[in-house]
Amino acid sequence: MNEADLVIVGGGPAGLTSAIYASRALIDTVVIEKMLPGGQPILTTFIENYPGFPDGISGPEFAERLESQAKKFGARIVTSQPVREVLQVDNGFEIKTEEETFFAKAVIIATGTSPRKLNVPGEDTFTGRGVSYCAVCDGAFYKDKVVAVVGGGDSAIVEAIYLTRFASKVYVIHRRDQLRAEKILQERAFSNSKITFVWNTVVQSIDGNRRVELLKLRNVKTEEISELPVDGIFIYIGSTPNSSMVRNLVELDENGFIITDNFMKTKTPGLFAAGDVRSNTFRQLATAVGDGAIAANSAEKYLGELIWKH
Ligand SMILES: Cc1cc2nc3c(=O)[nH]c(=O)nc-3n(C[C@H](O)[C@H](O)[C@H](O)COP(=O)(O)OP(=O)(O)OC[C@H]3O[C@@H](n4cnc5c(N)ncnc54)[C@H](O)[C@@H]3O)c2cc1C
Repeated sequence: MNEADLVIVGGGPAGLTSAIYASRALIDTVVIEKMLPGGQPILTTFIENYPGFPDGISGPEFAERLESQAKKFGARIVTSQPVREVLQVDNGFEIKTEEETFFAKAVIIATGTSPRKLNVPGEDTFTGRGVSYCAVCDGAFYKDKVVAVVGGGDSAIVEAIYLTRFASKVYVIHRRDQLRAEKILQERAFSNSKITFVWNTVVQSIDGNRRVELLKLRNVKTEEISELPVDGIFIYIGSTPNSSMVRNLVELDENGFIITDNFMKTKTPGLFAAGDVRSNTFRQLATAVGDGAIAANSAEKYLGELIWKH
């Protein structure tokens, strides 16, 4: 069995920051990541609000820097291994992936969130064939094409603006009559001649033959049904927490986010949570790295107390 003092589940900004702090404090640390390290920044075009980068930084570069900093201090990073379950056992925890079981005296859950789906007919059928949750990954396929973005928050508007680099037209479909996104982003979107807003409207179904061709829309005020021909649809309507692997060991809020105290402690001693997966937090990079630092510090104290007890 693979053993470590601390296992961090999730290699996004929160998990990698915990890894930097813990490994720099000479704690034997393993990060288990289900895909590649970096988390959501890998899927983000450009980050403008992270302190210390006045000219901004690309999401993938930010992710790479976090990873190399964690490795520099000796953290081991296991990739492509989704953690299925965390169990409390004598003196610690078993962390089970499909392939392996790890043992750790303390665990930090930093698994973030996954994009929320529209749950409409055609969404699953056409995922990867015109339905996307990642403009950075797929935007370039839509040169001179028409796309729709669904959502009205920061992510939807940032990515709609990004898509205007490629697409000839970007429809932003939003179920309300105003955006939730920051004012500065709204101004940029409103002044972009390639973006057209479709207000008070939801997507009812996504249709096509081999690829997406048509959206069926419903106006929530008038109940009017309309059709919008598009080549692609990018969905940014929020996120759901990746917390199922610890649901029996932690308290979850009504939306499935993990409840912690200010020290990132869950109800199970030795089990901490950090970043977007946590309840009641402002879900941003600056807060995720802050949580990651606090969680590592709390884990360090917990491990120190274990040594005194034995
Ligand atoms: C399009 C977009 C643009 C954004 N732009 C900005 C911005 O400009 N500024 C800003 O501050 N914030 C921005 N954010 C938000 C920011 O990216 C998040 O708040 C931040 O990434 C949260 O970090 P995290 O480590 O908590 O979670 P995540 O970044 O989600 O990382 C979680 C990691 O855990 C892994 N994981 C999940 N489940 C498992 C499992 N079972 N086993 C192992 N690993 C698992 C995931 O693969 C992922 O790598 C943006 C988000 C998006 C989607």
